[in-house]
Amino acid sequence: MSPAKKSTTRKRAATSPRKQTGAKSKTTARKSTAKRSSAAKTSSARKSSTSRSSTHKSTTAPRAAPLAEYNRKRDFSRTKEPEGRVPEKTGKQLQFVIQKHAASHLHYDFRLELDGVMKSWAVPKGPSLDPAVRRLAMEVEDHPISYNTFEGTIPAGEYGGGTVMLWDRGTYEAEDGGGVESLRRGYEKGDLKITMHGKRLRGSWVLVRMSRPGRPQWLLIKHRDETADPSRDITAEHTTSVVTRRTMESIAAGKGGARIWRSNR
Ligand code: MN
Repeated sequence: MSPAKKSTTRKRAATSPRKQTGAKSKTTARKSTAKRSSAAKTSSARKSSTSRSSTHKSTTAPRAAPLAEYNRKRDFSRTKEPEGRVPEKTGKQLQFVIQKHAASHLHYDFRLELDGVMKSWAVPKGPSLDPAVRRLAMEVEDHPISYNTFEGTIPAGEYGGGTVMLWDRGTYEAEDGGGVESLRRGYEKGDLKITMHGKRLRGSWVLVRMSRPGRPQWLLIKHRDETADPSRDITAEHTTSVVTRRTMESIAAGKGGARIWRSNR
């Protein structure tokens, strides 16, 4: 067994209080996904969320090996993306990252650290600071935390082929101050209320899961607070990397990455 596989196994055992159920775990995880269907009406879901927080449902259902889907989809002899592994230790504060990704369709990958991986959503139109705007956020496979520093190109023909820009990054937390338990509960319920501390996105946000067949679709919505601003178009305002200041074009051309990165830090 490779060191990487060992650490992944150890981590899974450490984070799952339930006994390993082997091949069964995949099926069980899928079932519990199908069960989560209460967030259909966004407005009512948002209003009633506090009353629903007393649920006693387990938030740690068994699941497939972390990042298995991420690793399966990629050929690491071709892409410079990091291999997926769960670190033994993570920082005290939970990280978030948003990557602008010009793949077959332009989208923004919205990623939140939770339990050693980055929960990930593809947001075609990107975030909006207008609380009246609900942005579709399609849940995709968990990504490794090491993906948070990835900026560059994925070769054409590979999964996600195209240009990736670090559009925003920072830390985030549960809006209610309930820590990681609250985040796990919110993710399971499909009503994830967070406070973001980024360079471009700040304040209170919510991801609400819609009940639809297939891979979960969510809505990303800005909550009303002092950082909301319907008059601004945040994705049009910021068209360069939050880390290297590069445009999509210069990232695609492979220019300036390492040099500018160092001079800024
Ligand atoms: Mn993407």
